[in-house]
Amino acid sequence: MTVSVTFMGGVRTTTGSRYLLRAGNEKILIDCGLFEGLKELRTKNWEPFPMAPSKLTAVVLTHSQLENAGYLPKLIQEGFEGKVYCSEATKELCSIILKHNACTMNESLTDAIRFKSSKHPHPRPLYTSEDVDQSLDHFSGKAWEESFKIGNEFEVCLHYAGHILGASLVLVKVRGLHILFSANLGRLYDPLLLAPSSISQVDYLILESTYGNQLHPHLEPEKEIADSIKNTLTRKGVVIISASTTCRLQLLLYSLYELKKRQQIFNVPIYVDTCFKTLGYEIFQKYENDFRLPLKQIKEAIDSAHYIQSAQESERLRNKSEPMIIISGNEMATKGRILNHLKTFGTDAKNLILFTGFPTAGTRGAQLLSESKSIKIHGAYWPIRAEVKQIKSLSFHADYSEIIEWLRSCRMQPQKTFITHGEPQASASLREKIENEFHWKCVEPRLGETIFLDRDNFQTHPCTQVQ
Ligand SMILES: [Zn+2]
Repeated sequence: MTVSVTFMGGVRTTTGSRYLLRAGNEKILIDCGLFEGLKELRTKNWEPFPMAPSKLTAVVLTHSQLENAGYLPKLIQEGFEGKVYCSEATKELCSIILKHNACTMNESLTDAIRFKSSKHPHPRPLYTSEDVDQSLDHFSGKAWEESFKIGNEFEVCLHYAGHILGASLVLVKVRGLHILFSANLGRLYDPLLLAPSSISQVDYLILESTYGNQLHPHLEPEKEIADSIKNTLTRKGVVIISASTTCRLQLLLYSLYELKKRQQIFNVPIYVDTCFKTLGYEIFQKYENDFRLPLKQIKEAIDSAHYIQSAQESERLRNKSEPMIIISGNEMATKGRILNHLKTFGTDAKNLILFTGFPTAGTRGAQLLSESKSIKIHGAYWPIRAEVKQIKSLSFHADYSEIIEWLRSCRMQPQKTFITHGEPQASASLREKIENEFHWKCVEPRLGETIFLDRDNFQTHPCTQVQ
């Protein structure tokens, strides 16, 4: 048997990235993400993994976000015993992001019990903080651009992806083939991070398509943020920002700090409300070469906010009536403390709910952005009268023109390109653009599909069970 890839997640959705590569008896999993959004996807986190995890040789993580790494503690609970390879920074970020997720799941469980909102007689979290501790023992951090072997079949090299700190393009060499996982591709001209590396020798490309049908506005993040929040602060409202409190927080804080310094917005307090610590200045010092933004400015931005950790302090925020900015939750408002803030502040028309990322279909973020007048939180419907807006210039994904520009600059000629990690319309649109631009053969794989890869042959095989 030759080499095959099975798409176990991260196709026709931006969540649950899991790509199984197999050569002979050896199998590695690229990414081990959580599913989010629509119920039929979320329930997959609770289903048995579609193969025995003990048969995996290793896991390679492209980056530390939950959609890419958040299932890992569960995989280990289910019997995975091998190593988890990723960049040094991803290893460090995973210890924060996975702990943060365990903490948020625990708080959500407390809320579910308190509001009697769970349909399960004995609700429990997917994993706990102790499970995360155990999973961290499996990690092995790797340097950029240094190849390493996995088993007898695979040689892997991590290249800079520019998406978040530590994010990698994963190039796998196996049986003479070069297979590149783009993971999530960063912006070409990001204010914080460097542009993604260029890679030319690629036989098969697995390419993300989050913004496969969208262009980001040509705006400075500061300008877009100021335009969005100025009116709310003038009418003494509260701004709730649904954002990653780890990966992209610093650019958001930097933009707010600059706006306050230039007196372009009122000098209101900024609270970062998260049940586990966020990325500290030390981590930026350590990976200074991976950034464009000077360290001094990152430090000023980090120091400009107040950090809330205890649930009691978070509750006290909701009793405040003065204008303020609260940054909380994830980009999709799926869980965590932001839900309580939405219940309190979302009902008042003078407030603003601001999204900074890409809320996938079926999430509260997607519902709010499609102008839902009410949303379900903790088992009850809450009216939403606050303004709802989205900032696109803070995105840490390349849009379709940047993806095309990156592909052109790489001068690669893949035999086949698999369009993944996108909503169906976005993937279809990117496929069309790449076919028109480069005349490459592109495929939008289905969930569970196995595809055999060969230098000259290409076969597809629908499959839900992997032996
Ligand atoms: Zn990502």
